[in-house]
Amino acid sequence: MTGVDTGRETSHLGGRLITGPDGDPRLIGIRCLDCGTGAFPATDYCPGCGSGSLEDLPLPRAGTVWTYTVVYMGGYGSIVADPPYATAFIELDDGTFVHAPITGCDPESVRVGMEVALTTVEAKENDLGITLTYAFEPAVGRERGVGS
Ligand SMILES: [Zn+2]
Repeated sequence: MTGVDTGRETSHLGGRLITGPDGDPRLIGIRCLDCGTGAFPATDYCPGCGSGSLEDLPLPRAGTVWTYTVVYMGGYGSIVADPPYATAFIELDDGTFVHAPITGCDPESVRVGMEVALTTVEAKENDLGITLTYAFEPAVGRERGVGS
């Protein structure tokens, strides 16, 4: 893979989160050099055509909630929040899908089609050694963040 200029980097569930020189968080996925398919978290082979010719892809920070659920029970749990919390599949502005928790609002207020933007959150104590991870927060009424 080709490199992406990064500042601080951490990971969560195999996904790469960077803090760029401008201080804005970005997720890094992959784009297939053969068919153009994008994916997050990054994979070794294209989920579209199986090619191993991939490049790192800094993803747009904004997207919309494609589907979601509200988690009321503990157990395996999230390193982001205690129940109840919302977790969603978010379609980013370039069409890449990201699975992430929704923070910064009542989980009951999350809706399909809701505009959201990438944010960073302090992780709860965990066995993975992760201290900072990513989530999305409502973007209505504020700047949705810079696209790709
Ligand atoms: Zn491909």
